[in-house]
Amino acid sequence: MKCPFCGASDTTVADTRISEDGDVVRRRRRCLSCDKRFSTHERAEIRMPRVVKKNGSRVDFDREKLSASLWLALRKRPVTVEAVDAAILRIEEKLLTQGEREIPSENLGEMVMRELKKIDQVAYVRFASVYRNFEDVDAFSDLVKEVSGARRRGESGGV
Ligand SMILES: [Zn+2]
Repeated sequence: MKCPFCGASDTTVADTRISEDGDVVRRRRRCLSCDKRFSTHERAEIRMPRVVKKNGSRVDFDREKLSASLWLALRKRPVTVEAVDAAILRIEEKLLTQGEREIPSENLGEMVMRELKKIDQVAYVRFASVYRNFEDVDAFSDLVKEVSGARRRGESGGV
């Protein structure tokens, strides 16, 4: 990838974002010669793999669910949004670079645990202990919905 400003070919990827439907990858790049930044949009040949649940059904990878699961584990922990976004990004990149069409939900759960271990030990232990009792990440995120739903009901009740 050549720098559009100075033409140097040494550029580094500063940030990668994947579009909603998962097939356009937007990268923020930084030129190592002139330090200018630019973005590229690449239509990826590869797509996010489908997640294979323990019962054998396939579901689309869902960034929102993943994020909700992380935040549930991290509730009330001193962790920045940036750190969590970066963790999600690393998981997505790992999924994309593996290039597999499908990924077992256990593998996704393991990835989440590895990332949580890096950012917050308490959240890691929370997630690991709860997650292992569930079928898969989806079951965990269903719990997230219940918890956040209960919280909303609580708030509207003036608690
Ligand atoms: Zn440059």
